[in-house]
Amino acid sequence: MKIALFIPPLTQINTPYPATAYLKGFLKTTLYQDIFQADLGLELILAIFNKKTIGQLFDEAALKPNLSKNITNILQLRHRYEFCIDTVIQFLQNKNPTLAHKICGSDYLPQASRFNALNDDIEWLFGSMGIHDRAKMLCTLFMEDIGDLIVEAICPYFGFSRYAEDIARSATSFSPILTQLEAPNNTLDNILIALLDKHILSEQPDLVILTIPFPGNVFGAFKAGQHIKNNYPHIKVSMGGGFPNTELRSLADARVFDFTDFISLDDGEKPLLNLLEFLDGKRDLSQLKRTFIRENNTVKYINGCTSPDIAHSNSGTPDYTGLLLDRYISMLEMANPMHRLWSDGRWNKLTVAHGCYWKKCSFCDISLDYIGRYEPASAVVLADKIETIIAQTGTTGFHFVDEAAPPLVLRDLALEILHRKLDISWWANIRFEKTFSNDLCTLLAASGCIAVTGGLEVASDRLLEMMEKGVSVQQVAQVANHFTQSGIMVHAYLMYGFPTQTAQETIDSLEVVRQLFEAGALQSAFWHRFSMTAHSPVGLNPDKYHVIKIGPDEGTFANNDLVHDDPKGGDHDLYAEGLRTSLYNFMMANCLDWPVHDWFDFKTPKTKLPFNLIQKHIAETTGNDNEKLKYKIIWLGNPPEFIPQGKNTKVEIESGNGKLSTKMDTTSAQFIKKQLVKTLTSPKSLLTLNELLEHYTQETSFPKELLLYSETWKSLRASGLLLIRF
Ligand code: SF4
Repeated sequence: MKIALFIPPLTQINTPYPATAYLKGFLKTTLYQDIFQADLGLELILAIFNKKTIGQLFDEAALKPNLSKNITNILQLRHRYEFCIDTVIQFLQNKNPTLAHKICGSDYLPQASRFNALNDDIEWLFGSMGIHDRAKMLCTLFMEDIGDLIVEAICPYFGFSRYAEDIARSATSFSPILTQLEAPNNTLDNILIALLDKHILSEQPDLVILTIPFPGNVFGAFKAGQHIKNNYPHIKVSMGGGFPNTELRSLADARVFDFTDFISLDDGEKPLLNLLEFLDGKRDLSQLKRTFIRENNTVKYINGCTSPDIAHSNSGTPDYTGLLLDRYISMLEMANPMHRLWSDGRWNKLTVAHGCYWKKCSFCDISLDYIGRYEPASAVVLADKIETIIAQTGTTGFHFVDEAAPPLVLRDLALEILHRKLDISWWANIRFEKTFSNDLCTLLAASGCIAVTGGLEVASDRLLEMMEKGVSVQQVAQVANHFTQSGIMVHAYLMYGFPTQTAQETIDSLEVVRQLFEAGALQSAFWHRFSMTAHSPVGLNPDKYHVIKIGPDEGTFANNDLVHDDPKGGDHDLYAEGLRTSLYNFMMANCLDWPVHDWFDFKTPKTKLPFNLIQKHIAETTGNDNEKLKYKIIWLGNPPEFIPQGKNTKVEIESGNGKLSTKMDTTSAQFIKKQLVKTLTSPKSLLTLNELLEHYTQETSFPKELLLYSETWKSLRASGLLLIRF
């Protein structure tokens, strides 16, 4: 059986959304080996942004009446857009870095409204950017100008990472999507269909799988399903992914199945395997797993398979082969360093653990399988996968796409990465757990960790407790500082509008954020408005959180986003703009000395927090080594030099701040020399601090305090000797 896995438009254009690679990797462990995958989103963008198609789009746009001045300007510069487009795409694909000089030339790229912000103060905005980043930013603005033309004159639903998102977002009824699906195809729809035809005719699949992670690719998926059902009725179509998992659990509109035959929920591996067995005649329809079908013109949910899901460690290694890996496009987002990481560069995606080990936060969909079922993989399995993916893709950047990567799995993975001498970069989403000590963060950094994201959310201890986040402001400050001190960028997810949040708490949370930036413990952040979802504890039990669900009535299509009233809380919408603007400035290190109430153009309370709250929290952070006797010892530093000097030995150690030089008795120095070699070469038999000190006493007859409180020990601790909790 031939299986075609498609990522419908549009998700990301800098890196493949990983679902098809995950499923392909899994299928490779089964009997079903004839698999094709394609990212229709990337292919759509490449099919639009080239000289030929841009010319056609300009022709079409020129016929439209009442175009804005901006689009009229773009049309007038048509020949420049046509001239530059292929160069720009090539540059954004990192294919020809030397083009940067040409692109930065003042007259090279045509400029429309997206360049206005630059023209105001180009040097300030560019700051100390290198020429490559400048060129990338100019190319991004150039692309966005063309995007504006497409939206105004060709297809109002276009975006670089979403397509017709507004139609699918919170669509309790399928009717608006259906209306749009039945409308005549626009030019972009026709390009998508031509791409689909090309693949279907060359691959001749029996089953097409469409992955739908976000509202922004729902319409693209249904458009593809519509075309297949109308033109290739022998091909079965199945849909799955994050959108069905969260939104379509109570699906009841049979019209949906004019566009697909099956919709599966939660992890895709087992439902897909069961579906293939059913299509192969080896399984009864009633034995499918978590799958919607249409029967007698009604929607039926089948969950008759009694065997469990595929264990995370048996789900195979993501297989990216077949995707156009060298043609992804990296645009540049200026303001937010983490969003830049997200949208810039191609990251191999890998999941460290299925689900979330915490699964308590009251705003989170913890009742759903993708959060609620926690299953980690071993460090050895993960490192094997990393090696396989590097061999497949030729790239060494990894994004661990966990809901919240467990610190202890990260610890073991870091040791395995170091043990295998893998030279990779990685970033992940974490919780600001106490476990992330200074030493653990240093270990993670040594293994290639370059950034973490984590939830500080409402930045208020009362509300953090109410949301069962399991962290306090103090803990977040300390842990964020540990990451930052280790050279790992920290991005905080921030939230406002949580149930009962008062105006005072909103102002105080902004003050916490301001102080975190001022202290250098945060480098990036983003405010999200609290949203009540049906599968979260707040949505399931609004009374407990003092909010009232006021809509919408449950529909027959997407049911997840709920509208609520918050009678005890402040007017949350009022604060949106001030929070956004202040954060933008904090990330640029601007106006960090402004009182936070100054960011709002209406009367607000003043913060009640002490001006040095975060500094005080950070200062409280250290613990003595004699409290860590059960911790294991890891030496990451360079081998010290041991220089005999009479009865003593001079110990010279390279540290980040130059060479540290201390003197100690030769017996102790010899002991250190021997032990450091051991911790370097044998990560599986690491000693605890207690064991090390006992060996020391046995071998030297000296009291353990002589080593533990020595200047040499202090120097070693400052230069790569880590104490890690196991
Ligand atoms: S918000 Fe994050 S940490 Fe909290 S339960 Fe959800 S996935 Fe876990």
